[in-house]
Amino acid sequence: MHRSPPESTGPALTRRCALLGTAGLLALASTYAGAAASKKKQQQQPEVWPRASQVPGGVARLSLGPAAKRPAAFAGDVPLLVLGDAIDWTAVVGIPLAAEPGEARIAVRSESGSERVIAYAIGTKQYREQRLTVPPRTVDLSPEDEARYQRERAHLATVMATLTDLRPDASLRMRVPVPGRRSSSFGLRRVFNGQSRNPHSGMDIAAGTGTPVLAPLAGRVIDTGDYFFNGGTVWLDHGGGLLTMYCHLSRVDVKVGDVLKTGEQLAAVGATGRVTGPHLHWSVMLNRAMVDPALFIAA
Ligand code: ZN
Repeated sequence: MHRSPPESTGPALTRRCALLGTAGLLALASTYAGAAASKKKQQQQPEVWPRASQVPGGVARLSLGPAAKRPAAFAGDVPLLVLGDAIDWTAVVGIPLAAEPGEARIAVRSESGSERVIAYAIGTKQYREQRLTVPPRTVDLSPEDEARYQRERAHLATVMATLTDLRPDASLRMRVPVPGRRSSSFGLRRVFNGQSRNPHSGMDIAAGTGTPVLAPLAGRVIDTGDYFFNGGTVWLDHGGGLLTMYCHLSRVDVKVGDVLKTGEQLAAVGATGRVTGPHLHWSVMLNRAMVDPALFIAA
């Protein structure tokens, strides 16, 4: 049986199909040419958040052109975040870590109901491997823990499907939720006690137990809980299918429905759930894909 890891991202296959369901395969040469061209274009553009990085676990920024009203865009049947104005709209697309390099497509629906397809290239990114030793009971679950985990997974699937309107003034530039050394561990292929698990789908920030965790962006609390792998957890909804998750918390200071401004305290760092020491695990989810939080913060 396939079991998701801590900091669960939901069924990888579903996410992958949502993005690539209608996509054919491109010749590798044109894929690499496309990725190179987009990289060059990126360097000439002013700074934007999130930054574009068309690789698994990254973000594509796809121009949709002018339109009087905000067009609706979809990856498979998952609605996408669309920013901009009548002069130029941009779809900001989260690319799942499980996406295969090659061509991917989104569908764009205009107000009149006409639909067009925009193709883009997902480049390759080789993520490193990390080997961790954790208590055996957190890798080989007892029947009770397995049942608990399955219940939590079903609940989190509903949390992750949250979709509300984007705030009209929304900036997607985030502050770091806690000061501290930020690991570049997003995407690490993890091996727990010699057993492969899903990749690490967030950023770990080193900080002592009790350090305040601050909202990196205005948002609404959509879930709090104490989960088997993730420990004390808070989810925020920022609108437009952009969600953030904070894990291993020693204390949760908010409740579902609270609306937070940027910089407001939501919790305290801890070492709850499956961890090797106190730190904040921070995930950013866009159109149900866990993407690299580093793309959302100023370097
Ligand atoms: Zn982590």
